[in-house]
This record gives sequence, structure tokens and C-alpha cells, in this order.
Amino acid sequence: MMRKLLPAASTLALASCATTTPQVPTLDALAREYLAVQLAIGEKDPGYVDAYYGPEDLAEQARAQDAGMTLPMLQARVIALDATLASYPVDAATQEPNRVRYLRAMLGSAKVRLRMLRGETIPFADEAEGLFGVRPEMIDLATLDPVLERIEELVPGDPGDGPLHERINAFRDRFLVPEDRLDAVFDRAVAECRARTVPHIPLPASESFDLSLVTDKPWGGFNYYQGDYHSVIEINTDVPIRLDRALDVGCHEAYPGHHVYSTLIERDRVNTRGEIEFTLLPLYSPRAIVSEGSAEYGVKLAFPGDETMIFERDVLAPIAGIDASAIGDYYALREATKELGPAYYTIAAAYLDGEASREETIDKLIRYQLRSRASAENSLEFLDTYRSYVINYDLGAQIVGDFVERDAASEAERWDNFIFILSNPVLPEDLQ
Ligand SMILES: [Zn+2]
Repeated sequence: MMRKLLPAASTLALASCATTTPQVPTLDALAREYLAVQLAIGEKDPGYVDAYYGPEDLAEQARAQDAGMTLPMLQARVIALDATLASYPVDAATQEPNRVRYLRAMLGSAKVRLRMLRGETIPFADEAEGLFGVRPEMIDLATLDPVLERIEELVPGDPGDGPLHERINAFRDRFLVPEDRLDAVFDRAVAECRARTVPHIPLPASESFDLSLVTDKPWGGFNYYQGDYHSVIEINTDVPIRLDRALDVGCHEAYPGHHVYSTLIERDRVNTRGEIEFTLLPLYSPRAIVSEGSAEYGVKLAFPGDETMIFERDVLAPIAGIDASAIGDYYALREATKELGPAYYTIAAAYLDGEASREETIDKLIRYQLRSRASAENSLEFLDTYRSYVINYDLGAQIVGDFVERDAASEAERWDNFIFILSNPVLPEDLQ
């Protein structure tokens, strides 16, 4: 499974000289057309291009041609390019089969996204599978009622003190980081995530990031990868930040999450092999499962076992000025509420498929995800903007985590499996 993605005898020189005949464009030329068409779709769909640091002339061309480009024209370009790639005479001794497979997977998602942009309504699970290559399972929410009863017992107070979500959020809010300590807490958290990643994943000396706190965004955190191993990371503080968000976000957006992922791809695919297609990260693609899944799973890798709790209690809580004496109870609750995770897809599907109203959805998020109303409203904003993208987090983490831990007898082997996922053009089907 892993082997088929590894190079047989690949070098950039081999890849380019093996493909030149007068009739057949080189794979590098097809990769440029791929970038051109993805950038052109991005002109119609803000946010479609998650990151791009490839040739500037292609971005300029997409902007210049946008007015004369229609969605049907873009669909035709995607279909034509996919057909050319499908019949491309790959040299099996090089990276070409992997490149063609990757490009076709990206174009498959582009086809689905273009149908959506043209107004077609696609049911949630079909949309998720079409865009991200994985079909989410829906559960019956009522099966989670026994889990809620167990959680009742872990939460301080009794039902007379108010509904479960209010009591649980009042308890969780004991761990809110005061606004004037957020910068210091995040800086320390990301520094620790980095310190725990770099010994396992050597990174280019020039890698760097900027981190800032922002408001009024539909997401919790965002990594705008700039190329040259540099990330601009923003963290949204619309919903007050609890202490455990710091390491989650630090690992997810930076180390060993998105920043490391994009840095390794740029170093190992773009700079080492000249695979120009990787200079663009489309938001809607099967790679999102890998990208978000590895980012979510990263915290477990960098802080195995109880180490997040210990670090928060001993290092971050004093910086935040928080009394962390009840952090053990906080983590017991956090663990118990994880069982509610699968409810999210059922709730999202009903909302996006038009079967549940906004208010009904907020009620379900409060009951089955134990969200505060503000957090539930924040979730709806994310769903309105990114729709089935939500599957990439928990489901991605599960798929990546299962792969990383499968047959790994040591911490070193887990990191090696993780690096393999980050550095290669892995698709979800390779991990299952
Ligand atoms: Zn992410």
C-alpha cells in the first residue's frame, strides 16, 4: 500500500525526458494547465484555492481571462484535461503514475464543485464523498442519549441547577483564557508544539510562521500558506478561548499540522521533484482528509497520553492565570463528550439537506454536542460557508490515526508513518 507511492527510479530529469513526443504534451505542461484551470475556478469561487505559491503568470492569466470564462467552459476544460490524463502514456518506472493519479483525483473533486457552483443540489453524504473521497456515516441521534446520561454524572451540580449544556459550559468556562493572556498562551503553546515536532521531523532552516488573533471569521483557525516555508496563521477569538484550545490549535495549524504539511510538500514534491501541481492546494479535494486529519491527529502524536493535560496544568495555566486544580475532571468530561462526535455529521446533513431549520439545528447542536448557543451559531456559520468540509476533521483524524498507529510498535514508527502521509501524494483510499 505504501510502496506504490514510493519512487521506483524517479528524478525530475527522468520525468521530463520520458514524456516528450510531438503529439503528447509533457506532464509538466499538463500540470500547468491543471493549475490554470484550478486558478480559474478560484476566480469564480472565493476560498476554492486554499493556497497557491506557483508561477505568478498563471494567476495573472486566470484573473485576466475571468470575465470571458463561464462555469460550463470551466467544466469543459476540466473534463478535457482529465480525459488527456486518463490516456496519458505514463512511464511506470517514474513518478508519472502517481502524478497522473493525483491530478485526476483533484479534477474529480473539481467536477463536483463545479456542479455545485452551477446550482445543483447534491445530498450531504454524496457531496462529501464526491469532494473528499470518503463517505461519512450517519448515526441515529437517539443512540447518544445513554452517553448524555453518563456525562450528566460527570458534570458538577444537578439537573435542578439548569440544563446539561449550561452546567457543562459553566464548568468548562472556568478554563477560559483571559483576553490579555491569549497572545502569551498561544506563543508558548506553539513553541512547545514545535519543540516536540522538530526532533522527529527535520524541517528547512528557513521555515517560519506569523500568528495573529482575529475576529469575525467563519472558522476557528486558518493557515494561509505563503510558500518559501512560511505560514500566516490566524486564530479566531469570536468564541472565547478555553485553555485546551491552545495546544489543539498550535498543533493543528502549525506543528506538526498544516504548516509542517505544506512545508514538507513544498520541499519534497515541488522543490525536490519539480511537481508544480503541488503549489496549489485546492480546498475541496481528497487531500483535505489528509490535511485536516493529520492536523487534528498531530496533537496526539506530539503530546501522547496525558501530556496535553500535564503541560496545560503545569505551564499554560500559570501563564493564563487559571486555577487548574480541576483539570483532571475537565479532561474526563472532554473524553466522555468525544463519544458525541459522530452526531455532528447527522446534524450537519439534516441542516444542509434542508430537513432541519436553523433553530432546530442550533437546538440539536446544544443537546447532542453540548455547545453553548454562541458556539452552535458559530458552527452554523461554518456549515453555511464550507458545507460538507466538516467531515475532514474527525473522520480525517480517525483515518490518519488508524494508519499511523497500525503496526507501529514505537513512537519513532508512528512519526515515520505520519511523515510518509505528509510527504507523499497520499489519498484517503491509500490509508484504509
Ligand atoms: Zn485545518
